[in-house]
Amino acid sequence: MSMLTGDDTISAIATAIGEGGIGIIRISGSKAMAIAGKLFISKSGKTVDSLLSHQVMYGHIIDPASGETVDEAILLSMRAPRSYTCEDVVEIHCHGGPVPLKRILDLTLVQGARLAEPGEFTKRAFLNGRLDLAQAEAVIDIIRSKTDASLKVAVGNLSGQLSEQVRALRHAVLRMIAQLEAAIDFPEEDIEEAAAADVAQLIAEAKSRLTTLLATAQTGRILREGLATVIIGKPNVGKSSLLNALLREKRAIVTDIPGTTRDIIEEYVNIGGIPLKIIDTAGIRDTADVVEKIGVERAKALVEQADLILLLLDSSAPLSPEDRAVLELLPGKQAIVLINKSDLPARLETEEVEKYTGGRLVLKISVAREEGLAALEQAIVDMVYGGQVSPGEAAFVNNVRHSAALRAALERLNDAEATIEAGMPSDCIVVDLREAWEKLGAVTGDTVGEDIIDQIFTQFCIGK
Ligand code: GDP
Ligand code: ZN
Repeated sequence: MSMLTGDDTISAIATAIGEGGIGIIRISGSKAMAIAGKLFISKSGKTVDSLLSHQVMYGHIIDPASGETVDEAILLSMRAPRSYTCEDVVEIHCHGGPVPLKRILDLTLVQGARLAEPGEFTKRAFLNGRLDLAQAEAVIDIIRSKTDASLKVAVGNLSGQLSEQVRALRHAVLRMIAQLEAAIDFPEEDIEEAAAADVAQLIAEAKSRLTTLLATAQTGRILREGLATVIIGKPNVGKSSLLNALLREKRAIVTDIPGTTRDIIEEYVNIGGIPLKIIDTAGIRDTADVVEKIGVERAKALVEQADLILLLLDSSAPLSPEDRAVLELLPGKQAIVLINKSDLPARLETEEVEKYTGGRLVLKISVAREEGLAALEQAIVDMVYGGQVSPGEAAFVNNVRHSAALRAALERLNDAEATIEAGMPSDCIVVDLREAWEKLGAVTGDTVGEDIIDQIFTQFCIGK
């Protein structure tokens, strides 16, 4: 039994609801084995408590009230602390239909389990010290990953790639504090000054490590959440054709956004590992025609939300007032200008276009002939990575909560530096350093409150 999670035993369906080859009900807590024992009859006649850790047993689930057989099942036991939650865990693998899964779940509840809250298994893993908070968050990132590159970042974070770096930084800050505090005890002024000078050097090093880490945040966020992309251009310029070409060749995944009505969906296109989230407003499936359907005013609002704009022009016609209206949406936005229909005789003056593009990349493409799409893809990859190392080679910050904490820590280190430069006493430097140490601890969950922890785990699905 864990001190932190009480002796509550929790249960939930761990697999997706729907038809599947198998489905799994997971039970975690001190009563997990006892509960399973009441529901399971093994083929061999052995009892459930004879099951050793990491062993399986084949048999049937029965309803103890009626003696009725509910399903054929395999039981898997993982004894504390060698389990996901560090508690006794039993998994019941049954047939993967919604009815058998719900029946068996209900039976576990009747036998004394409590229905798990969203993310509660992972929360227990965190509270029992098996995962830190950044690793727990990586679990949900793995489940929701949109491309191989997104998955790589999440797996790196689950393995502790980010946590390790943050811990090393915290340790370095703690040593600075210790050094300053040791010097305070000496009566000689020059010893304190020398310590401050040493620490100034160490702060500069820590800042540079933090800055390197923070430089991955933009790409990391895009890999986790997708690059919100909108395709704009006047009617008939080829927006739908481009979208369809991308979806035909690069469609990654389509997901329902949790907590919203079912008709809002997100489409992701996988561009060299970067999930492009094609912005879709409720009901308008053909995003490409947003401008035609909703007009320039609302297109402006869409453009505001976007990380990337793909702006289409028609190579076969001179620049029109409609083109100019669309081009005027560009200032302040990251965009690639695509001159489509380049297979047709050119009538568009590119010099005129460049008056509007402000040095943004202009590519000639022909969606009809599938020309220039590889160059577009490469341009997007270059734009997102911007010369950075790719995932897997280094720790990536992929989460806004983490980047905010790291940025705050960096600010506190700047403060500490300024304090030293101003010749202030060591105690003042220590105050800044302590705050930096706190902020860093938010990433791994060492210094966050219960409210933040709860908020993180409620974003999980039930059964995880
Ligand atoms: P939208 O109104 O911007 O969504 O434009 P559509 O994608 O519906 O395309 C309008 C017309 O242009 C269709 O007849 C397409 O087949 C045609 N079209 C799209 N791309 C090209 C291209 O690269 N070359 C040529 N010649 N026609 C194209
Ligand atoms: Zn269209």
